[in-house]
Amino acid sequence: MAVSAIERRNAYAASSAGGSPLGAVAGLGSGSARDLGLYTNLITSAIGLSPRRAQQLKTAGLDHVQISIQADEPALSDRIAGTPSYDRKIAAAHLVKELDWPLTLNVVLHRHNIDRIGRILDLAEGLGADRIELANTQYYGWAWRNRTALLPSRAQLDQAEEIVRAARQRLEGKMEIIYVIPDYYSKYPKPCMGGWGQRQLTVTPNGNVLPCPAAHTLDLPRATVRGHSLAWIWGESPLFQRFRGTEWMPEPCRSCDRREVDFGGCRCQAFQLTGDAARTDPVCHLSLDHQIVAEAVQAANEGAEPVEADLIPRAYTVRRS
Ligand code: SF4
Repeated sequence: MAVSAIERRNAYAASSAGGSPLGAVAGLGSGSARDLGLYTNLITSAIGLSPRRAQQLKTAGLDHVQISIQADEPALSDRIAGTPSYDRKIAAAHLVKELDWPLTLNVVLHRHNIDRIGRILDLAEGLGADRIELANTQYYGWAWRNRTALLPSRAQLDQAEEIVRAARQRLEGKMEIIYVIPDYYSKYPKPCMGGWGQRQLTVTPNGNVLPCPAAHTLDLPRATVRGHSLAWIWGESPLFQRFRGTEWMPEPCRSCDRREVDFGGCRCQAFQLTGDAARTDPVCHLSLDHQIVAEAVQAANEGAEPVEADLIPRAYTVRRS
């Protein structure tokens, strides 16, 4: 039911991440996604991607695999991941190429691994990755709790950008390199999800539908495919209407020329930093709350050497629908 509704809205891709993605994608591929012309993408830690499972997914019609890695060498990667996983990720990356899937590596960058960005690029090239996403951490949820330990300095970012620029030239036509700076160092916020309820939705494993994967952190009415059609949720549900368009905006966004460019930034970040999801994203230099972000950036740049602070890992919990 959900995929059919997506098709009616001319969506072109279905991704599976979190929850129990390996099982979910097998169902999508064999059931209806490919029949509907959807491009299926498995976004995975790869820890559970055994040869048998991979072959099942290949048979089911999965189009693409994205694997997260944390660093280019085992000890650091496992420390950041909080569990021994590096060897399994590398084995899974080889498996993906053996099965002739396009491979994307996703690396979340922060001050513990950003200085190794050149070696990470070498690893990706050696694995035959078609694409690498080098995405600096955005500070929501657990990343926000670990912000002091994770936020890089300006000098680290400058050096990383230089390495990425050189690698893009060297690997042009061979490997696509996406590099995303942390929005704390931007003048304006990013247009989160291309605007609330504008382009994308996420269906979680328990059937909840969200305008962005992090929107469950907000105190808003729930929308679920167990109770309504996807078309109704997208078009009429209070959840998707809440921050759609520009009517909900406070000043300075309401009268700003960029209000339909960045849509006032990220609602989850506004809530995380101010306690009110309807405020301007504090990343924006025009936000009345910008001082919150400016102070964090200042702290990350004090002292010449990166701060080695302990990381607070997320406890493993079994989620039930
Ligand atoms: S004031 Fe609002 S709309 Fe204008 S740039 Fe800042 S976040 Fe964007």
